Amino acid sequence: MKKKLFIRGEWVEAKAYKTLTSPYSGEPIAEIPVADEEETDRAIAAAYEAKEVMAKMPAHKRAAILEKLSRLLEERADEAARIIAMEAAKPIKTARAEVDRTVQTYKFAAEEAKRIHGETLPLDAAPGGEGRMAYTVREPLGVVGAITPFNFPMNLVAHKVGPAIASGNAIVLKPASQTPMSAFFLAELLVEAGLPAGALNVVTGSGTKVGDKIVQDERVKMITFTGSPPVGIGIRNKAGLKRVTLELGSNSALIVDKDVPLDRMIDRCVQGAFSFQGQVCISLQRIYVHTELFEEFVSRFVTATARLKAGDPLDPATDISAMISQGDVSRSLDWIQEAVNQGAKVACGGTAEGNIVAPTVLLDVDPASKVSCQEVFAPIVLINRVRDVNEGIEFVNDSRFGLQAGVYTDNIHTALDAVEKLNVGGVIINDIPSFRVDHMPYGGVKESGFGREGVKYAVEEMTELKLVVINRN
Ligand code: NAP
Repeated sequence: MKKKLFIRGEWVEAKAYKTLTSPYSGEPIAEIPVADEEETDRAIAAAYEAKEVMAKMPAHKRAAILEKLSRLLEERADEAARIIAMEAAKPIKTARAEVDRTVQTYKFAAEEAKRIHGETLPLDAAPGGEGRMAYTVREPLGVVGAITPFNFPMNLVAHKVGPAIASGNAIVLKPASQTPMSAFFLAELLVEAGLPAGALNVVTGSGTKVGDKIVQDERVKMITFTGSPPVGIGIRNKAGLKRVTLELGSNSALIVDKDVPLDRMIDRCVQGAFSFQGQVCISLQRIYVHTELFEEFVSRFVTATARLKAGDPLDPATDISAMISQGDVSRSLDWIQEAVNQGAKVACGGTAEGNIVAPTVLLDVDPASKVSCQEVFAPIVLINRVRDVNEGIEFVNDSRFGLQAGVYTDNIHTALDAVEKLNVGGVIINDIPSFRVDHMPYGGVKESGFGREGVKYAVEEMTELKLVVINRN
């Protein structure tokens, strides 16, 4: 199957192609266009031309397009989940959950399109402001450049495309090279949903070539990026005066206080650590357990981990499948070995078969080991003991990252103290840091990025506040 670039509402043959293969089986999936600078330029030009049409489109029409998109995706959810499972090796049940969330994200975007508004200001609060009225409006920026990662190829694209359409922007989308099929599928649905030509353009190709062109082109007013910290920081440095939001990585942590009931927690923690092979930005990577509960927690966690089934992403029974690349398999094994050399014990896992890394639990890990202080992005979790929640907070904060953190405690004072002290974008009490629903503000501090997604918050980032003052004197 040969795919095409999506520019100005048309499917356009590219000059160069590359074979996309399954991370699980290595089998070819499709021929994917590798756009060059000139092809990317055409996509930006198309978005630039469509920006007036989008800016003038009434809110009810933008909402109707997004509602229809959400409905179409719901109707074709099985097909969408299969696409994700094939190109990303995401186990099909997890892929299906991603599609369900994507349907929600577009629904939220449809609703949000109808409530983008400013406020009136009491100008007479300042001497000299008498006899004047003022209000603000929110205007679309124009062209938004969206650059997305492989790990949620539908829903993280939705977190950019949804709010951009809701707020009347045109978009140039550059999906991750490993997961372009989900983006092409979206374009197909948006044509059917009635999006004007040029309002969404999909350009596949190398991050450095296509990405760089989008980041540096003057017609693009904003870059919304989700991906790794080094790429995000590079984009920020090149973007000049463009608005930029960066949703980057993390080494998310959970603190478990004494006296909390483990029954409901353990399966939830196992899911947080190993869902999609740990290739999730808020994957549970570090668990700090109160010393009184430590032994029981570890024993139950390891037992639950042993129940996970590894295999073909298309098999509904599969919990764990292939890593996104062979390089990530060897990196995972190297990092485990480094932790062991620095004193860690392997409670389970620590091996790989083909491209599948066994779910790995490490104990007594040195905070300086890569599996602790860097983003592991693999099915590897560490469990260390702490004497109390405060010590856990120190470990959580001793990180370059700060996306979300979780705290299980039965003590309200401990919980509120943790909320105050944790230096992260979101604190989740009595759940794992991996909790997310799609309308909550989501984003991080430190090297986890800046700016927020969650449809309403992304709309704020994608619009410009304009002030109107009317002098009645
Ligand atoms: P990545 O390697 O940083 O790639 C992300 C996107 O950036 C891809 O489309 C990539 O294109 C493109 N890119 C690469 N180099 C570029 C450049 N120089 N200029 C512009 N674009 C460039 O990340 P990934 O491996 O796909 O995703 C995993 C990372 O995303 C993890 O760090 C994870 O934590 C993070 N993430 C964060 C969130 C969040 O919301 N905070 C959510 C999900 C994932 P190519 O694919 O062609 O290289």
